[in-house]
Amino acid sequence: MIILALDGLELGMVRKFRCRNLMQLEHGQTDISEFKLPRTVVLWASFLSGRNLEEEIPVETQWGFRLRPEETFFRFFGSYVALDVPAFSLKDANHAEERRLLKAYFDDEAEVEDYDAVVWRNHEENKKDFFEALGRFDLVMGYFDLADAIGHLSFGIPRKMETVYDELERLAGEVSSSTDDHLLVISDHGMKAVGRYGDHTRNGFYSANWRVGLSLPRITDFHDLIGGVAVGDESSQNKPRSGRA
Ligand SMILES: [Zn+2]
Repeated sequence: MIILALDGLELGMVRKFRCRNLMQLEHGQTDISEFKLPRTVVLWASFLSGRNLEEEIPVETQWGFRLRPEETFFRFFGSYVALDVPAFSLKDANHAEERRLLKAYFDDEAEVEDYDAVVWRNHEENKKDFFEALGRFDLVMGYFDLADAIGHLSFGIPRKMETVYDELERLAGEVSSSTDDHLLVISDHGMKAVGRYGDHTRNGFYSANWRVGLSLPRITDFHDLIGGVAVGDESSQNKPRSGRA
C-alpha cells in the first residue's frame, strides 16, 4: 500500500486546477469538526492511531510529539517506511527551519522567497526519499507539506498555488503510473484564503484508487480501512484501478 500524505490539500483547489491524478477513482472531503482546532500534528496523530488525540498533544510541545509504531496502523504491515510523517518520523530540522523562516517573515527579517525556497528544497528531498522507497516495503507513507507551507504565505495568490497543485498532481501521477498497489491520498485539513495568506479549514481531503465507498469520513476512520488493506480483506474484493488518469 502507498499513502501520499499531503498537508493542507484543499478540495476546492484540486477541482479548480483539474487534478485528475489527485482525485483518483473516488475522492471527497473528510470531516474534522470534532477537533476544537485544526492542528496539523493532532490530525496526523489521530489519522495514524484511529483515535482523537487532541487532548493528549499540548500546543507547546506538539512538534516533538511521537507515537510508537504499535499505537499506529504501521503495526498491521510486515514492513513499512514512514517518510517525514508528523507525530511519528518528522524531520525535525527541516520543519524547524521552515517555522523559523515563517516567523522571520512576519518579523520583517526574511522575504517570502527565502521561506518558499526552503519549503521547495525540503519537498524535493522528500520526493527523492519517497521514490527510492516505493516497491520496497508493504507500506510506503510519504509526507509532503508543500500545499500547506506555501499556502500559509500565498494561498491567496492563484499563480503560485497553481504551481504547487501542478507539482502535487504530477507527483500523484508518477506514483499511480508506477504501481498497481492501493494508493490513498490524504490531507489533514483544507485551506482558505485570508488576503494573500492561507488558514486551515475544517475539511480535509482523501482519494483512493479503489472503491472505498466513504461519505464525509472522519480522519480517524482510515485506521481500520488501512488495517483491512494490510490483511487483504479491504472492502473487499475491490482491486485498485491502476494507471494515470
Ligand atoms: Zn496541516
